[in-house]
Amino acid sequence: MVASCRKCENCSVDLENYCLRHIPTYNGFSLDGTLTFGGYSNMTVSDEHFVVRWPENLSMDFAPCYVLQLLLIVL
Ligand SMILES: [Zn+2]
Repeated sequence: MVASCRKCENCSVDLENYCLRHIPTYNGFSLDGTLTFGGYSNMTVSDEHFVVRWPENLSMDFAPCYVLQLLLIVL
């Protein structure tokens, strides 16, 4: 997701995916009304709360493994 209200009961306990006003990465409407295209986008604007900073000294070759680890932690 690229954003949520950050104010509701779900957001206040880090369950933003249950927020009724969350904006999904794909097929959602951004705050400016434009449609989100997820991985099909050339660029995206996201609330920094939902962004993971990529270490500059880490090759992007590790990106798939890193993302998989994050998903396993969440699940
Ligand atoms: Zn919320």
